[in-house]
Amino acid sequence: MNNSFTQVPHIQNEPVKSYAPNSKEKEEVLATYKAMYKNTIHVPLYIGGQDIDSANKASMHPPHDHKHTLGTYALADKGQVQEAIEKALQAKEKWAAMPFEQRASIFLKAADLIAGPYRAKINAATMLAQSKTIHQAEIDAACEFIDFLRFNVQFAQEIYAEQPLSDKGIWNRLSYRPLEGFIYAISPFNFTAIAGNLSAAPALMGNTIVWKPSDHQIFSAKIILDVFREAGVPDGVINMVMGDPEMITHTVLESPDFSGIHFTGSTFVFKEIWKQIGENIHRYKTYPRIVGETGGKDFIIAHPSANTDEVAAGIIRGAFEFQGQKCSAASRVYLPKSIANTTLDKVKAELETVKMGSPEDFSNFVTSVIHQGAFDRVTAAIDAAKASDEVTVIAGGNYDASEGYFIEPTVLLTTNPNYDTMQRELFGPVVTVYVYEDAEWESTLELVDNTSEYALTGAVFAQDRYALETASKALENAAGNFYINDKPTGAVVGQQPFGGARASGTNDKAGSKLNLLRWTSPRLIKETLVPTKDYRYPFLGN
Ligand code: NAD
Repeated sequence: MNNSFTQVPHIQNEPVKSYAPNSKEKEEVLATYKAMYKNTIHVPLYIGGQDIDSANKASMHPPHDHKHTLGTYALADKGQVQEAIEKALQAKEKWAAMPFEQRASIFLKAADLIAGPYRAKINAATMLAQSKTIHQAEIDAACEFIDFLRFNVQFAQEIYAEQPLSDKGIWNRLSYRPLEGFIYAISPFNFTAIAGNLSAAPALMGNTIVWKPSDHQIFSAKIILDVFREAGVPDGVINMVMGDPEMITHTVLESPDFSGIHFTGSTFVFKEIWKQIGENIHRYKTYPRIVGETGGKDFIIAHPSANTDEVAAGIIRGAFEFQGQKCSAASRVYLPKSIANTTLDKVKAELETVKMGSPEDFSNFVTSVIHQGAFDRVTAAIDAAKASDEVTVIAGGNYDASEGYFIEPTVLLTTNPNYDTMQRELFGPVVTVYVYEDAEWESTLELVDNTSEYALTGAVFAQDRYALETASKALENAAGNFYINDKPTGAVVGQQPFGGARASGTNDKAGSKLNLLRWTSPRLIKETLVPTKDYRYPFLGN
């Protein structure tokens, strides 16, 4: 029996490896990438600790080499989704009763497995099937995922330690129960770390999960599952089902035991899911927790006092890393007339040095977008911009999907601050620039605030402190993550808790204690040590 109050080990952010030429990590990840490319795999459903196959299958392809096949994955039918719910419910009692240190230890082990024996595998899988460069894979699939797993253990410990006051003669205690029922996790294609965390975070708090990964992330989802299994996540605690998202979601949301959703993806899909939850509300045994991190139309605004080299670097990294397929990617830029030409000349000159191609070639800064749908959406916007008399294409604008879904990093200059691509989330390597009169700094801040429905990330560049202060106030509700003299991407777990409001989500801040609080339902226990035997209060006396 363990009667001690244990402390989780000291947590630090996982150091990012360099993958410099001739480094051991570079050799290892490339060898793993090549081996994965050659072999084909099949990814079954994972229900109640069993690999379950299905009559229907779909195939997986590298987005930068889409004629090549990486393997297949099983598509669940309705009965299999119901089975996953059943297994999650069956596993619940034992898992919820497991002491925290045991649950914590499983996820700390998962973090160490990724940091060590699985690092090359999870990075290579993310490079191959989501077309991330090695740096983008390393900061996501390895470091961010490891950080989520380790920091969440520390945050959970802090939550559990939070206790109410107790007056004389009584002892008040809070216990942090998991939610009654099961949690549904739906993950996007663009971050392997998010895919893992959407089920790991509620599971750490004692919940059991039905997880539906994106069709375009299943290759690396398989590695996540292998890690969870090796780390000792018990059968039924995390169940993975793939297939028709509408059917799966419909089946899950009609269960009376549905108790919460942990979603990351687009705004439209999240709103539709919220609506369905509302329609089903009378079925549920408990009010479901609804946690969703969704789209963005993230901005960079430069003040006339800004350093143009810094702004140019912020635009290139902020808009084009991972081909602009980050929810935080800069996609609208506001430059004052006095520095606009210098800044844009630098962006154009620097883009000349940017190479595009397969992530296997480490000299490539950008690769392809995720799938044909994304390619079509982004190239249609580029074509419309070429045809518009409100827009000039000042860099990029070419694309080719013959081998992979390649779109050049594209900079549009518009005279209309409300032009389509200043407002709509494109989720691709396109940034639109609007030039404002220097004297209109304050009204431009209002414009930034009012132009889009989103409020995820944004950045201001200025040397002038008064300007920074004005922008920080004016844009208070325009971004959940607000950056000063930095690009608006690259949030680090434990350092920049991440999430936005308005149409960008419920702002429950992934990578912080706030998110974990959503997966627990506190129970207050009041114990009176020596209870009274007389109902009369003193005021009743004469
Ligand atoms: P998506 O909305 O197309 O898909 C997300 C998930 O929802 C996938 O698993 C998908 O299969 C599922 N889905 C799709 N249609 C559905 C439906 N009708 N019912 C139920 N589930 C459905 O998003 P995506 O293309 O995978 O990812 C890109 C989007 O995610 C962008 O909008 C981006 O801004 C957002 N995102 C936000 C954050 C954040 O933290 N705010 C992080 C990453 C991505």
